[in-house]
Amino acid sequence: MGISFFPSYLQGQRHRSGFQQLKEALSLVAMISLVLTFCAVLGSLLFLVIRRIRTEGAWALWWHDNYLERLRDFLSGTSRPRRILQYVQKVAKRGDADSVLCAVDTYCSQVEWAMNVGDKKGQILDATVLETRPHWVLELGTYCGYSAMRIARLLPPGARLVTIEMNPDYATVAKEIIQHAGLDVKLIPFSSDYPIPTSPTHSSTQRDQSSGEGTIQRKWRLQEALIYTTLHCLQLPLQLFSRTSQTPLSPLTQAQETTAQGQKTNGDQTCKVELLVGSTSELIPQLKTMLDVTSFDLVFIDHWKASYLPDTKLLEECGLLRTGSVLLADNVTCPGAPEFLHYVRNSTQYQSQYFPSQLEYLQVEDGMEKSVFLG
Ligand code: CA
Repeated sequence: MGISFFPSYLQGQRHRSGFQQLKEALSLVAMISLVLTFCAVLGSLLFLVIRRIRTEGAWALWWHDNYLERLRDFLSGTSRPRRILQYVQKVAKRGDADSVLCAVDTYCSQVEWAMNVGDKKGQILDATVLETRPHWVLELGTYCGYSAMRIARLLPPGARLVTIEMNPDYATVAKEIIQHAGLDVKLIPFSSDYPIPTSPTHSSTQRDQSSGEGTIQRKWRLQEALIYTTLHCLQLPLQLFSRTSQTPLSPLTQAQETTAQGQKTNGDQTCKVELLVGSTSELIPQLKTMLDVTSFDLVFIDHWKASYLPDTKLLEECGLLRTGSVLLADNVTCPGAPEFLHYVRNSTQYQSQYFPSQLEYLQVEDGMEKSVFLG
């Protein structure tokens, strides 16, 4: 016979209180489970998004080259190339091309991604320049002048680099960055003779191309600004996981460094960089008469991917390739240039080789295609 310390009239209340407490405890457990499940689902989704941005080219390019760039443009009122220029002017040693390249790589790997060829693929570019020892080099797509600097600093005395950029503001920035590196550069400004096509060449077509100061047209609606600002919160956790560790500038192997130093001390280090502003499809046919060039020894193709193949065929038609001319095409995997690859890999006019690497400043697969013109 049990002994109860509770009065008989309180027995029911005690049982009801216990039942209610159990009910409340179960409700609390259910609520906690619900919240934890929600957090787990949200975390999984966030993890999947971060993983895709880190490993899949299309997601990475959308995130860095579309969303984040537009957001920063909107918040700062300047363009990405202008922000890179400001950083270079702040930290890079004037007259030192390697210091400028290192500053751009540091900014783009730690602060804001940009579509330079980058330090990893830059080594393939460096090796090709040193191997080819070109006298005439053509670059399609200057952007901020990063690859132009990489090429120009390794060219033998008397060599000339012609680089084409369709965006006047980008060309102005490139000129300032190349000048900061101590390399001789001449800008041939945009004129009505070289109209900018309405079809997109790259993200620059979204910008106010008439603005010489790089001010972005603020066509944003309030809703867009709020959405982007809200989404900006995603940038913080993403940056923690998506950034690769900074790779210090290591553009040359030991042997290449020796060769490059030999070239630099061989006389005139500053080569002539001619920066043409306009569309490649309109400028390429005029290069022979404009520059008195017979053919190019090396062509670095790094502009709008859909233009790789038509511009290659245009170079052939204009007689700007000789037997032994080397084409080096960037981003043939990400975003990709399948028509160009199919052409150079299946044409008897080319001997083509693929160099696997990674998309600049990211852990995303990319590569370069080196194609030797056989005539
Ligand atoms: Ca590129």
